[in-house]
Amino acid sequence: MDVYGWTRAQAEAWATSIGLPAYRGEQLLRGVYRADVRCFAEIPGWPRELGQRLDAAYRLPLAEEVEQHVSSDGTTKSLLRYQDGALVECVSIPTPDRHTVCVSTQVGCPVGCSFCASGLAGVERNLRAAEIVWQVLHHHRRRRVTHVVFMGSGEPFLNYDAVIQAIRVLGEPLGLGLGRRRITVSTSGVPMRIRQFARDEPQVTLALSLHAADDATRSRLVPLNRRWPLAEVLAAMRDYASQVGRRPTLEYVLLADANMSRVHAEQLAATARALHAHINLIPYNPVADLAHVPPERRAVAAFASMVRRYGGHATVRRPRGCDIAAACGQLRRQSLALFETSQH
Ligand code: SF4
Repeated sequence: MDVYGWTRAQAEAWATSIGLPAYRGEQLLRGVYRADVRCFAEIPGWPRELGQRLDAAYRLPLAEEVEQHVSSDGTTKSLLRYQDGALVECVSIPTPDRHTVCVSTQVGCPVGCSFCASGLAGVERNLRAAEIVWQVLHHHRRRRVTHVVFMGSGEPFLNYDAVIQAIRVLGEPLGLGLGRRRITVSTSGVPMRIRQFARDEPQVTLALSLHAADDATRSRLVPLNRRWPLAEVLAAMRDYASQVGRRPTLEYVLLADANMSRVHAEQLAATARALHAHINLIPYNPVADLAHVPPERRAVAAFASMVRRYGGHATVRRPRGCDIAAACGQLRRQSLALFETSQH
């Protein structure tokens, strides 16, 4: 009964599989998305006995919010606890004309980037499609979600099937009806999945978390680079771009101590030019326990202008939620540490 991971066709197939008319499946999805019911017995139009029977066997809410932090800029970070106790973060980023939600795809992360709290303790498990969709719904209940980015904890392309299914469910007109162009998936570079994604979801925006455009630096920052070096990842990105006919995005976190020299700027611009890609420069949000140094504002501006001088199209992204540990994985890590402390 992974209702939040079902498309309409799947909900209807479930209904007929237990001897109900197909429209009961449609009513079920309308109930969970539109009426925001918290148990099966509340599904509008359903026979009471059917709802009670399902309530006896399954719990409809997938997770509860155990912590919430609201930044002075409106960014809200929620820590969710799923039914098995797994803790996952999701972030709501409101602006006057948009409401973007950043979702996690794994509990922890197996990639272990040197600047990220999510990978510090490795990965616990993959999230199911329904659990990913639940994060969006969680924030959607407060304000209609207009955009979703798969940039939270986890490497989406190491949980590929669940991510594809979540994208389909988010697009379901009976549910959130989110257009593909309003969804962005960010990967640290899994070449075969990048090519597959071009075939499966060509309308969704793909961002490559580059963070360095030479193998030596990138292998230090993004350990996945040792398995799939830049030449392989960039070849897959070129295939992706030629198949979907759109410019990919390169994400580049600015670390004062690691990737902000003139040579780094030149390499980044050259890589972006070859891919016709746009560059997002993201000043680092410092993470306790990690040694990386956030850049001064002046250094950010200087690096951006160097990249532009070398012919790269770059935008500096305003860091959001600095006062609430909004960088990937920090809240979950703090909570786990508190939990572990309270256990001893
Ligand atoms: S930046 Fe992304 S891929 Fe890297 S460790 Fe964090 S969650 Fe994983």
